[in-house]
Amino acid sequence: MYWGIYRSDLRSKIQISKLTKLLVSLLIFWELDWHFDFLAKLAYNWYRNKGEVLMQFVADLHIHTISSGHAYSTVLEIAQAAAEKELLMIALTDHGPAMPGAPHHYHFSNLVALPGFIYGVRVLKGIEANILDSRGTLDLSERILAKLDIVLAGLHSVCVPSGTAEENTDMMIAAMKNPWVDVIVHPGNPEFIIDDRKVVQAAAEYDVALEINNSSLTVSRSGSLPRCYHLLNLAKEYGCKIVLGTDSHFAFSVGDFTAAEKLISQTGLLPQQLLNTSVTKIEEHLRRRNNRR
Ligand SMILES: [Zn+2]
Ligand SMILES: [Zn+2]
Repeated sequence: MYWGIYRSDLRSKIQISKLTKLLVSLLIFWELDWHFDFLAKLAYNWYRNKGEVLMQFVADLHIHTISSGHAYSTVLEIAQAAAEKELLMIALTDHGPAMPGAPHHYHFSNLVALPGFIYGVRVLKGIEANILDSRGTLDLSERILAKLDIVLAGLHSVCVPSGTAEENTDMMIAAMKNPWVDVIVHPGNPEFIIDDRKVVQAAAEYDVALEINNSSLTVSRSGSLPRCYHLLNLAKEYGCKIVLGTDSHFAFSVGDFTAAEKLISQTGLLPQQLLNTSVTKIEEHLRRRNNRR
């Protein structure tokens, strides 16, 4: 009798577990529109604890080559590292010409010399452009920006001094209004305090993705973590797109989103907001941006 109850309990436990797994899989992997945030967090952590892959990141959209002047891997080394990590897509985003040591604008106009695929990995030709002023001016002409597959833009103190939160916010939002900008990089940088809510609201309105920069959470821009956490919570509220970038300056870190993924798991951001999980989502974002030009 006792054994019978035990067995039937065990069976129902197994059945519930299988059913939960099936439901969670449906909700997460097929990205059904669903708003139970606590369930999202629970499911995410459940999968993580079980060592299963919840989000597979197929693209790294922020990588520097030796052309940046303070990065240390070649295009081939980066593509090889990406292929070994089974990435499907990378973006080469060397610093714009205003950054000391960065390449001349010829570098960007001649990126057409590179093939579209290297070692089987799709290679987007891009730039991490510098936002130069409150009008959202970038350090590359529209003629050359038009040749690129992806344009990241960000504030760097060596190119533009940090101002008040209002001034920094204005510069960032002006860059979002610039039709050439696809992604705003490291908005969580504490060096440039911004009005997080205004920036996230503008990102949703102008359909520009905000980056969670893995390097900001590991080796640079110390103090970014709580700011990124806040931005992600607002992104969830306003539904703006998020991109993860490693900001690799050496091939070993290409495709390593460990810190950013951990942060995302704590916020329960919906998978459909995250572009890196699908090449199609990235292409759609870039196409939508392209249509605004
Ligand atoms: Zn750099
Ligand atoms: Zn940067």
